[in-house]
Amino acid sequence: MKCAVLVVGAGSGKRHGGKLPKQYQHLNGMLVFRHSLMAFSDHPQINTVIAVIAEDAKPLFTVAADGLNVKTVPGGASRTASVHEGLKVLADDAPDIVLIHDAARPLVSSALISRIITAITKSHGAAPGLALADALKYLHEDGVAGDDIKRAGLVQVQTPQGFPFQPLLEAYTRLGADAEFADDIAAARAAGIECIIVQGEPDNFKITMPGDLEHAERLLHQRNVPISVTGSGFDVHRIIPGPQMVLCGVSIKGDLALKGHSDADAGLHALTDALLGTIGAGDIGDHFPPSDPQWAGVNSSVFLRKATDLVEQRRGKILHVDLTIICERPKIKPHREAMRARLSDLLNLDMNRVSIKATTTEGLGFTGRGEGLAVMANVTVQLSG
Ligand code: MG
Repeated sequence: MKCAVLVVGAGSGKRHGGKLPKQYQHLNGMLVFRHSLMAFSDHPQINTVIAVIAEDAKPLFTVAADGLNVKTVPGGASRTASVHEGLKVLADDAPDIVLIHDAARPLVSSALISRIITAITKSHGAAPGLALADALKYLHEDGVAGDDIKRAGLVQVQTPQGFPFQPLLEAYTRLGADAEFADDIAAARAAGIECIIVQGEPDNFKITMPGDLEHAERLLHQRNVPISVTGSGFDVHRIIPGPQMVLCGVSIKGDLALKGHSDADAGLHALTDALLGTIGAGDIGDHFPPSDPQWAGVNSSVFLRKATDLVEQRRGKILHVDLTIICERPKIKPHREAMRARLSDLLNLDMNRVSIKATTTEGLGFTGRGEGLAVMANVTVQLSG
């Protein structure tokens, strides 16, 4: 079944108090519109995402939709006209069902989208609704409360509202250009299509009034409580005679070198693996195969940079690194502060969050015999979202 969504954000509502329309306000580091688009573009049952936007909001929308597979349609004079424009564009490659969502409802959940899709049939639509908790009364112009309105039988309706595509398109076509409705249920009903109400979600509120953005921000923070993860890495290189070895980005001159395809910096290799481990992104060999000649003799900071970039893309923040170098020679202590400074620089991390320790294996094993040098690395990363 082909399922499309129109995310409608052509309005200029500023009741929330900001200078820009609510869908272009910042919410937890992203524009409100982007949160709404991502809810659908990340959903496995949605094939097409179309945004209906105001023509003059294009530069803002470009920021909101950066990197997302979203087509845009210019909106019309009213919400009803905007939806009609979107439906007409979809008609070229008609989906089976279409959902219509307010761009200013950024916290719509994947589960709610699924519930709506499941509830739509060939003959009727589906929309989320919430029962009312507070008493309802008419309000007189002088601010005095009037008669009660019975809550029983009333429902607050949210979006996404979903319909079988073809009947909805025909309904909008029949309504004509000047028709104006509060939402798509009203437009569909005017053309004889009924809509059933499924359970909505309180968090799926529309950002409208001052304070709504702050409320949404608090809810997102609760959802995205950061967690700390730990990655570990281990690497060994053979020790050979040579004028210098590169370890933790520092050149140690003398009579020892490390053998390897790249610059053989076992410290940066172990650290790269530990970083990849925090985000489950495989190991250094997956990203930089030793069989690939382009990595011959390369400075290992290239590998580390790739790993830090990947961690950053996952909204990770490196908190602490701790390395243990295992060898009999060279002596690490004279170089330790230079190594910490170099790692601090490469990781953009305060030096007191960079620990380097060294040990021997009391003459035992390959490190004890001086055949090789090993490095263990542990990294702590804070992940959010
Ligand atoms: Mg290595």
